[in-house]
Amino acid sequence: ISGLLAYCRPGFEKEVAAEIDDLAADAGLIGYVRAEPNTGYAVFETFEPVPVFALGERADWLRPVFARQLLLWFDRVEDLPERDRATPLVTAVKGCGQRFSGVVLETPDTDEAKQRSGFCRRFTEPLTRALEKAAALRLGKPGFPELHVMFPDANTAWLAAALPGRASPWPMGIPRLRMPSSAPSRSTLKLAEAFMTLLSDEEREKHLRAGMRAVDLGAAPGGWTWQLASRGIRVTAVDNGPLRDSVMATEMVEHLRADGFTWRPQRTVDWMVCDMVEQPSRIASLMAEWIATGRCRHTIFNLKLPMKRRLDAVEQCRELIRKRLASIGPYELRIKQLYHDREEVTAYLTLKK
Ligand code: SAM
Repeated sequence: ISGLLAYCRPGFEKEVAAEIDDLAADAGLIGYVRAEPNTGYAVFETFEPVPVFALGERADWLRPVFARQLLLWFDRVEDLPERDRATPLVTAVKGCGQRFSGVVLETPDTDEAKQRSGFCRRFTEPLTRALEKAAALRLGKPGFPELHVMFPDANTAWLAAALPGRASPWPMGIPRLRMPSSAPSRSTLKLAEAFMTLLSDEEREKHLRAGMRAVDLGAAPGGWTWQLASRGIRVTAVDNGPLRDSVMATEMVEHLRADGFTWRPQRTVDWMVCDMVEQPSRIASLMAEWIATGRCRHTIFNLKLPMKRRLDAVEQCRELIRKRLASIGPYELRIKQLYHDREEVTAYLTLKK
């Protein structure tokens, strides 16, 4: 392979570039990183091709906070002829000597690039057939990587491999979630996506059960509370603002008009979620405090990042949490900029058993 290809929210290329540069350095790869503002992706390019195993476990899309997807790219094909884009792509795929379990055609998430999503849909079948004919595919074969073909413009394609279990399962790294009709705000999808992205299937099954108890700090109008209530979890929703009727109508919710920074539950709750708009360091400290003192078992929270030095702000939060939990025991902290996150990231924190 020739390096790493990461997708991100347009405007966050600098952050994701710094993260994949670090990841590559960790793996001992020698090369350089490239990212143009507002293109929706960043690339690490090695000076010499390296074997896939050089990256080991490191090339996991969940590691870089600002990456929606992390792929291992092996070729970039330029000047694709309009009349026959398939032939040069098939040649390049054959050249890499790897067979793939399937093909995903995609674009970066910019308004300009997304105009080609129709082309991607139309071209998927002919390209798949051409690759099959060239024996480059073993469709549906478990254990084989998936081929991603990313078109930053109409005549250029990046060819990359998604390793099973190490890449986002969604095209463009974007989970398509339907807005539930009775949920009060679109931010409900943020918590739904956080559950899907930050927890494994097993963890979701085990830790999101009907009958559990949760606290939602900064709950109004109730999108996150609704997500919990719809799973049969009883929620104490803390906010001075009002909750929507559809949330109260679930009869799973108690609304308290109180300050989320000082209010504490009497007994340990299973979950505390927090979407208060505040300085990230204040939120991180509060979350670590709840976990350290056993007020909740799991927490999912948002860190708003309106500042310039967003990676530094995230690192500072990691450090605050590390310091507070150092004497408590090992913990799990996962941080990700979700598709539904704007200038913010979402995190999951729990103590390890
Ligand atoms: N997660 C919510 C949803 O899905 O509908 C949206 C939350 S909104 C972004 C932030 C909320 O935090 C506001 O309703 C605000 O009133 C509340 N908030 C801000 N500071 C707070 C505090 N100190 N205590 C309680 N709530 C607070």
